[in-house]
Amino acid sequence: MAGCVSGGAKAPPLTRCVAGLRGHDALMKAIRVHEFGGPEVLRLEEAPEPEARAGQVLVDVRAIGVNPVDTYVRAGLYATAPALPYTPGSDAAGIVVAVGDGVRRVAPGDRVYIAGSLTGAYAERALCSAAQVHPLPDALSFAQGAAIGVPYATAYAALFQRAGAVAGETVLVHGASGGVGTAAVQIAAAAGLVVIATAGSEDGRRLVAALGAAHVLDHSDATHLDAVRALTGGGADVIVEMLANANLGRDLGALAPGGRVVVVGSRGTVEIDPRDLMRRDAEVLGMLLGNRTADELAAIHDALGPMLASGTLVPVVGRELPLAAAARAHTEIMERNARGKIVLTPYPRGDSPLARSSTRSIVASQARRPPDPRCELSRAGSIDTTCQPEPPNVALISACVTRRGPPSPFSCSLKHSMK
Ligand code: NAP
Repeated sequence: MAGCVSGGAKAPPLTRCVAGLRGHDALMKAIRVHEFGGPEVLRLEEAPEPEARAGQVLVDVRAIGVNPVDTYVRAGLYATAPALPYTPGSDAAGIVVAVGDGVRRVAPGDRVYIAGSLTGAYAERALCSAAQVHPLPDALSFAQGAAIGVPYATAYAALFQRAGAVAGETVLVHGASGGVGTAAVQIAAAAGLVVIATAGSEDGRRLVAALGAAHVLDHSDATHLDAVRALTGGGADVIVEMLANANLGRDLGALAPGGRVVVVGSRGTVEIDPRDLMRRDAEVLGMLLGNRTADELAAIHDALGPMLASGTLVPVVGRELPLAAAARAHTEIMERNARGKIVLTPYPRGDSPLARSSTRSIVASQARRPPDPRCELSRAGSIDTTCQPEPPNVALISACVTRRGPPSPFSCSLKHSMK
């Protein structure tokens, strides 16, 4: 194709690509890990740019989602360890640069989010199998796209593929302020579940209320599960649990008859009383996203697509850092007071080679939106429930939740517009 640079002499020709493809022997910036260890082992280096072969897609990465699992893998604590050296990360969003033979579902120039990568997402370019690449709706920024992969797929799988949640049931999202929790609140609310959500900080609780939780509790308050029993008249039908080692024993006493706890996160051991399960015919279900089959993953992303496109699901970006600050992101994601996703940006100044190419118009359309003037800080720090912006409200929510500097309450209750 004119304007495209194909791979090395032995590489098969690319099916399609865009101008701006750097060609064989090109180097890109990437985070590389040469030994397992603390955040300091994340090094920004130059690495060979991958090439798209048959069935593969090369993505120019604009934003990268940081997940807790990235830190476990980096530390060498995860069940499966990658061969060293490696580039971390599975979640990102960007623009398709090239597709290999046989790829039909995306084309060069498409805006996409990726949920998995063959070469790692913490880089300027990521190589993916075609099944790992999904369309990114125009209304969502790249940073929001980077927040979709693991969190939304995990939340969806926990709620529906494991717990079998149905409309009208009550779900406790136990740890709702982070990546998976904010996704679970939105997905559950959209599916007609009554959502009780917990967060450990005031900001986190405001956020999950704005995302559609009917009731919001503080998980650092030792009595919060009593409140769950009181609110539900006996217990929640489903609990999506982010920190089972801290909570599972007491979760079982806050379940309704026939209730299900899905263990999404745990950082240690815990003691339970099995009689709490017997009394209720209740179940504890483990869930690992990596155990999902290809068909289950495809079903998840097929289900998420229309909800992302319609503005029903609005990924929440709490913090954006440059790719070079990956070590800091790994430290911060393990700290308390989550508020959506931490996202890394490979081109903080917007100087992607693709941005200078013929796809400039696509890139320009992704320029950060100005904050919505309706999103003002309230005087008293309370949520103004009278403010109901017209849908789609993606920009408003994004602007609200990424506002920096204390105090950071949101004046607009976004709850109504999420419905
Ligand atoms: P995250 O963005 O770092 O958020 C962590 C969440 O845990 C925050 O909402 C935090 O709330 C909450 N939390 C802290 N202390 C808690 C407590 N005592 N009780 C309940 N919640 C508490 O992480 P994430 O991406 O949402 O992931 C959450 C967990 O799920 C992590 O452990 C992660 O490894 C795991 N995970 C598992 C899978 C899987 O396939 N099973 C997939 C993705 C993630 P505050 O900060 O407001 O206190």
